[in-house]
Amino acid sequence: MKVGFIGLGNMGGPMARNLAREGHAVRGFDLAAPMPKGVEKAASAAEVAQGAEVVITMLPNGDILRKVADEVVPAMEAGAILLDCSTVDVESARAVAAQCEERGCGFLDAPVSGGIGGADAGTLTFMVGGAADALERARPLLDIMGGRTVHCGDAGNGQAAKICNNMILGATMAVTCEAFALADKLGLDRQAMYDVASTSSGQSWSLTTYCPAPGVGPKSPSDNDYRPGFAAELMLKDLGLAIRAAEAAGAVVPVGEEAMRQYRQFVEDEDGRGRDFSAMLPRLAAKALG
Ligand code: NAD
Repeated sequence: MKVGFIGLGNMGGPMARNLAREGHAVRGFDLAAPMPKGVEKAASAAEVAQGAEVVITMLPNGDILRKVADEVVPAMEAGAILLDCSTVDVESARAVAAQCEERGCGFLDAPVSGGIGGADAGTLTFMVGGAADALERARPLLDIMGGRTVHCGDAGNGQAAKICNNMILGATMAVTCEAFALADKLGLDRQAMYDVASTSSGQSWSLTTYCPAPGVGPKSPSDNDYRPGFAAELMLKDLGLAIRAAEAAGAVVPVGEEAMRQYRQFVEDEDGRGRDFSAMLPRLAAKALG
């Protein structure tokens, strides 16, 4: 397929490289990042869109997506598909979907989980919103970049699924870190706490797959001095999207809000920026009441 790729950073770079390696003709554009192996450099985002059957975007946020879409959508051929893999707010996804529809193009919001490792290995999970026929046309590309694709409904629903998932993740990681810090202060060995909770009702992905305590459970960023992994500021971004979406939809999310407050304080006022989101554990372990 003729593929355009805009946003070739930590995630987009390896995703585009994997598509080129499988024989797709990929043209790319990024304001700063170098072109990955096999990807032809275009002079602008609009140039990437010209003649492409699918234009993929992997950008930092919704405002940038809207700006890029203003340039790209008018340059797309009727019938082409804009496949946005960025994590953005639901409203931006739906606004760009409407813009594509007006132009006679398809739109899919397809945010991912799996991080940089998943992008590199081609094992990402895609959560997709948009029309089923557009998804079937994009599926050969998704199958190269990822291991699993879940169709979540209409445009915007991929982003909705992503922020609901990451609100669960942020809250469970924060409380799992709290439990370890509490165990410390109660004189309960971290390994013993893990052995009990990992096989009891306190079990979660945050505990058993991504354990925030170094030397406990499987290898995770905690064993690498909390180098990300998934950076605390990215968790803050996703919690912010969840809270904004909840406000817009009239949903009540007090625990999600508290998780966001904790991550905001960690990132903005403490030393959380650039550290893995599981570094909430040393942060809490160092604090004491009174
Ligand atoms: P990144 O900052 O490494 O890459 C973004 C790229 O977009 C940069 O190279 C930047 O130069 C480029 N860019 C910005 N504005 C542009 C413009 N107007 N035109 C062209 N290029 C432009 O970020 P990333 O880690 O690759 O993340 C991308 C998206 O994926 C984000 O929405 C993020 O939330 C999401 N995501 C990231 C991870 C992760 O672990 N890094 C995991 C899941 C989802």
